Amino acid sequence: MSSKPLPILPGATPPILPGASLGILGGGQLGRMFTIAARTMGYKVMVLDPDFASPAGQMADVHLQADYTDHGALRQLGEACAAVTTEFENVPAASLIELAKHCRVSPGADAVAIAQDRSHEKSWLAQNGFATAPFALVYSEGDLRAALADIGTPALLKVARFGYDGKGQARVSNFDEARAAFDEFGGQPCVLEGLVNLESEVSVVLARSDAGECVLYPVAENRHDNGILDVSIVPARVPETLEQHARYLAGSLAHKLDYVGVMAVEFFIADGQLLVNEIAPRPHNSGHYTLDACVTDQFEQQVRALCGLPLGDTRLLSPVVMVNILGDRWHDGGPHWDTLLAHPNIKLHLYGKQEARPGRKMGHFNVLDADLAAALDLAERMREAL
Ligand code: AMP
Repeated sequence: MSSKPLPILPGATPPILPGASLGILGGGQLGRMFTIAARTMGYKVMVLDPDFASPAGQMADVHLQADYTDHGALRQLGEACAAVTTEFENVPAASLIELAKHCRVSPGADAVAIAQDRSHEKSWLAQNGFATAPFALVYSEGDLRAALADIGTPALLKVARFGYDGKGQARVSNFDEARAAFDEFGGQPCVLEGLVNLESEVSVVLARSDAGECVLYPVAENRHDNGILDVSIVPARVPETLEQHARYLAGSLAHKLDYVGVMAVEFFIADGQLLVNEIAPRPHNSGHYTLDACVTDQFEQQVRALCGLPLGDTRLLSPVVMVNILGDRWHDGGPHWDTLLAHPNIKLHLYGKQEARPGRKMGHFNVLDADLAAALDLAERMREAL
């Protein structure tokens, strides 16, 4: 990518410049890192989140402590801010539509509505020619029986909405197990997915502007533990053709969605093929490596896309390994930060969460080394030592 300044396209809406106020729906760690990026660039930030101790609220100029559907709070946010974005996909589409009456909003409600429901997402992917794991939609016990006959076992039953980090998922081997899982999920709409033979998992974070300009980050190779992202390795150790194809697929997916903002596309690699697993309409955990290893990190990119600024350079400055720090490590006096911080090439990011719970994402660290194998080795040693 060239480092020449990118022109503001004629006819495009004028960019929102530092000094203006930006809003974000959701005050978790992604909102916190957006807030830090925006404030670093000189914007004011207003966070809407019902939790008084939200990680982003701690960093914001203003924390509106209210529900995401609170009309008064949405109006206040929309009137005070030049633009509003979101950090999670379960934001009610109606709230984005309401906000759009007052200010610029990205991503748009349509893209969020597709990504927040696995059944819409999978159907949209299939209709638009993107390969996925075999799937069937399940709304009733009858559908479940038909889906099992169609997909076969073993399979994964996943709730269509509000599932994340492996929650709301069950591995099933026969109809009785599937029915028990469906009942446990309260009979809510689900997707039954065939279990694919995973060789590895990769993801691509990208940003797309409202003028249709798209920049893509290097592909991350992701390892999960118990359905939760554990480690991202960049550059991904996959054949170059696969890497290029993943970036091509992610870019064309963003264009087809007419997406504006930062998004991530997660892929399975099975039998040498790329299958789209999930779309995240926001910065992504597997893009946290960009904070220390890229010219422009994914949160500055979110600010740039939201404000209608030219998108930043996504160039990787160093091989990097990102390791998530979960609440499970807060035992016996807590993590050994001294051991971690003894290494000059490790960058620690903690999210300011008050309570450490098992499986809760408390922070992450990035290990940078010109030699990727050395970065991975140190990351693994520190992962154990923490
Ligand atoms: P998800 O929340 O759907 O991204 O699933 C969490 C993790 O479970 C994925 O990152 C995979 O490691 C695993 N997984 C999910 N779906 C499948 C599948 N159809 N076949 C194999 N592994 C899967």
